[in-house]
Amino acid sequence: MGYRTGIGYDLHRLTSGRKLFLGGIEIPYIHGLLGHSDADVLLHAICDALLGAIGEGDIGELFPDTDPRYDGISSRELLKIVYELVAKKNFSIVNVDTVVVAEEPKLFPFKKQMRQAIAGILNIKEDSVNIKAKTNEGIGEIGDKLAIAAYAIVTVVSGEDK
Ligand code: MG
Repeated sequence: MGYRTGIGYDLHRLTSGRKLFLGGIEIPYIHGLLGHSDADVLLHAICDALLGAIGEGDIGELFPDTDPRYDGISSRELLKIVYELVAKKNFSIVNVDTVVVAEEPKLFPFKKQMRQAIAGILNIKEDSVNIKAKTNEGIGEIGDKLAIAAYAIVTVVSGEDK
């Protein structure tokens, strides 16, 4: 089956009264992301990219927001479940590349910790996970600090072709 790639995208609104979780870690900020789970937009984009690569639909099919089991769940748990599905289908993850689009907060100081968290869940080396942090140049909803978006692309290889 060889090498396969998948793409993922997600966006969540920023709101007061929630903690900000991004890339599997908590980041100090005045607002957090709104969602059924902890709304970790980066981990959700990675989940979707992985599901895309292995041909298993999307995160909304796997974890419906009507299901109380996923109420307030850590997205690290969701990514673990997706990783188990990848492993069960006999795929290994080659690399994960991502873009986070956030006007605030500055993510540079947290990139290493996020890479470590993601690599740990996916059982790959830290340098196989890349995070690029961008602003939206003050334009649109993201520029107005109303939302944070993330993009992810992953490559996987099937067990027989490793
Ligand atoms: Mg989401």
